[in-house]
Amino acid sequence: MIRVLAASILLTISAAASAEAASPAPLPFVLKEVGPGVYAAIDGPDHKSGSNAGFVIGDDGVLVIDSFFYEEAARALVAEIRKLTPKPIRYVVNTHYHADHTGGDQVLRDAGAIIIAHRNVRGWVRTNNINLLGDRITPALRARIEALALPDLVTDKDLTVWLGSRRIVVRTVLGHTGGDLTIHVPDAKVLFCGDMLWRKVAPNLIDGSVKEWAATDEQFTQISDASQTRYVPGHGDIADASDVEEFRSYLLDLQRLVGEGRAASLKDEALVTYVAPKLRTRHPDWTISDRSIAAEVRYMDQELAGTKRRPVPRPD
Ligand SMILES: [Zn+2]
Repeated sequence: MIRVLAASILLTISAAASAEAASPAPLPFVLKEVGPGVYAAIDGPDHKSGSNAGFVIGDDGVLVIDSFFYEEAARALVAEIRKLTPKPIRYVVNTHYHADHTGGDQVLRDAGAIIIAHRNVRGWVRTNNINLLGDRITPALRARIEALALPDLVTDKDLTVWLGSRRIVVRTVLGHTGGDLTIHVPDAKVLFCGDMLWRKVAPNLIDGSVKEWAATDEQFTQISDASQTRYVPGHGDIADASDVEEFRSYLLDLQRLVGEGRAASLKDEALVTYVAPKLRTRHPDWTISDRSIAAEVRYMDQELAGTKRRPVPRPD
């Protein structure tokens, strides 16, 4: 009996191994259809994409939202689009300048896309991304950042992009970097939020204003059809209006707790030690690394002190 069982297990293992050898490498993201012809590409557990992205298939073309950090991931996205439609890839809209959302722009441009971004992105994408990477920068990464594609079409106002009869609304919003766009597909009730929304992951506040950010997220929950809307965050899985509320409450909790610590004259390590356990208790199912909580407290402290440095728009 045991021998039969062992033999069948061996057979199962070898069948699984040969199936694995035959199948192509897994995608660096999970593709999810969030509305008719509207797809979110959610970064996988190994973070091989670097962020989320997405695309909308219209009557006469495709609009892509963000391009990940890794060019391999952007190439995989183009390949997935090609499996679904032969329509031309006409646009990629960057939600903001951070390299984890713009790193694959050239791949999209090579596939035919015009790069659309907030006007401040052009001045920041090749310079401020070096600050973003901080102590993780290497000579090779610096060279990559300095060669990132510059957007072709920039705006500081809302835009409507028509894909045939399909209307896509690109809005300028405040909070994450000072050059943020959201992409709304009203007919599908999908809002691509970029890093204005993180789901159950501690956000990066390096360039942000929590005050502006929380106000923008409040507007997200007040759009028409909010209760049926699917919100695609910059990081984390597909969200609904309650996730947006939860993210906003995370920001407001951080603001409140750092404010309390400041009122008790806590600084640096002591401030982090005061805030971190309380924030983790209030959001127990969130991924909050020691590195990210320390940075969040520092940036929140600077914002409340009025000393926070945010990217400055450069002249064209
Ligand atoms: Zn991001």
